[in-house]
Amino acid sequence: MKEEVRHFESELAIIGSGIAGFAASIFALKRGIKTAQIGNTGAVAYTTGYLDLLGKIGGSTEIITDPWKGLEQLQKNQPDHPLSRIPIDDIRAGFDQFTDFLNQAGIGYSAPLDHNLTALTPVGTLKPTLCVPATMEPGIRALSDKTPCIIIDFKGLKGFSGRQVVANLKENWPGLTTKRIHFPEMEKGEVYPEVMARALEVPATREKLAKLLKNGAEDALIIGLPAVLGMHNPDLVRADLEKLTGLKIFEIPTMPPSVPGIRLREMFEQVFPHEGLTLIPQQKVETLSFDDKGATLYLKDNYGPITIHAKSVLLATGRFLSGGLEAHITGITETLLDLPVTQPKNRTDWYQDKYTDSRGHALHKAGIEVDELFRPLGQNGKPYNKRLFAAGIILAHQDWIRARSGAGIAIATAYKAVETIHNYISEHSSAKE
Ligand SMILES: Cc1cc2nc3c(=O)[nH]c(=O)nc-3n(C[C@H](O)[C@H](O)[C@H](O)COP(=O)(O)OP(=O)(O)OC[C@H]3O[C@@H](n4cnc5c(N)ncnc54)[C@H](O)[C@@H]3O)c2cc1C
Repeated sequence: MKEEVRHFESELAIIGSGIAGFAASIFALKRGIKTAQIGNTGAVAYTTGYLDLLGKIGGSTEIITDPWKGLEQLQKNQPDHPLSRIPIDDIRAGFDQFTDFLNQAGIGYSAPLDHNLTALTPVGTLKPTLCVPATMEPGIRALSDKTPCIIIDFKGLKGFSGRQVVANLKENWPGLTTKRIHFPEMEKGEVYPEVMARALEVPATREKLAKLLKNGAEDALIIGLPAVLGMHNPDLVRADLEKLTGLKIFEIPTMPPSVPGIRLREMFEQVFPHEGLTLIPQQKVETLSFDDKGATLYLKDNYGPITIHAKSVLLATGRFLSGGLEAHITGITETLLDLPVTQPKNRTDWYQDKYTDSRGHALHKAGIEVDELFRPLGQNGKPYNKRLFAAGIILAHQDWIRARSGAGIAIATAYKAVETIHNYISEHSSAKE
């Protein structure tokens, strides 16, 4: 039997469901652009939930306290960097709109301030970031006030150790202690953050956990827990546990897979269709082609083939982990259109000799080139197609890991790309198009 092809028409097709793809959908909705988003799962399920803008520049080990001033420095030192190609006011607007949307959609986030926050990593080291989930904010204050605190971890939970967090922070946080307890009804074997988070959506599980936390808290005024406080209502789960224990509570990110990232993905998947966006989650675009009338995307899901026809396309497919770029013996390629990838000349130049070299590795700056309108360049150095735009960490000339700028690059470039897409659609909305 021949499978029926489902077909969608849109003004914009966004390929990718990482932070860049989701941010682009938010900005497109805000501008009234008829949008379809397609994305396989990717790096968002690994992220801590922190939204970094800029924490370090180049090979410097110095931490940036004011990322906005840091951006001015970056623009002088690294004019090719994607963040150097966007006015700072636009980067602010992108962060404001992104965090406003998250707050309205039910996941509390701190607003971007004029300075970086000092946040805890899963192992108890510190990192600069701009915005944090509301569930993690009290930990940042407790660290700065040195509030007596206990880090509680769970028997059977791998990748998060209260002892390790305390060992790394004890010198700066004298009243910090730790204790290991069982998670309610998961007393045997390994326990998993995602399963614990979903279990805590149930009030009865929260009551049981609250009892265990209260007994374990000793002299602490605040409890730090791995990020497992619910999947869909983390702020409610945290508030309820605070009420039941009578103590302040905060979350610390865990090693991947990470609940705060999965929360974002599941929230977007619930909210976007209600906002009028066509969302095809957990799928990969197999082919993308262009003709005079627009772009055609082809993919398949469990119900059969799908085609999407769009006036414009945003490529936000990430790097190696998410499948936007691929590394081969002969070099690095872009996976969907075989766009040229800026990269070191030889494979032997990909890495420095030392993994921890503060200059970073050349491989991490590989990516595609775009023009001033964020249109990817083809082999001839000209835009590959007037309808194709790109955003996120697939872009060349940035090392988001070292610069602590993952979400910043994703949000800011999505903001700028959607602005230029909006202009393109407005200019070409005549009957001919
Ligand atoms: C372990 C880890 C920790 C991190 N911690 C932080 C942090 O603390 N702070 C921070 O700011 N950032 C952090 N990040 C970075 C952040 O999660 C994002 O990687 C970054 O913001 C870039 O987003 P992106 O959307 O450009 O790319 P990605 O997040 O990589 O998303 C690309 C998307 O494209 C999809 N895709 C690829 N090919 C196709 C195709 N053919 N069809 C459809 N979809 C496709 C992928 O499945 C994926 O959904 C972390 C990342 C990792 C891996």
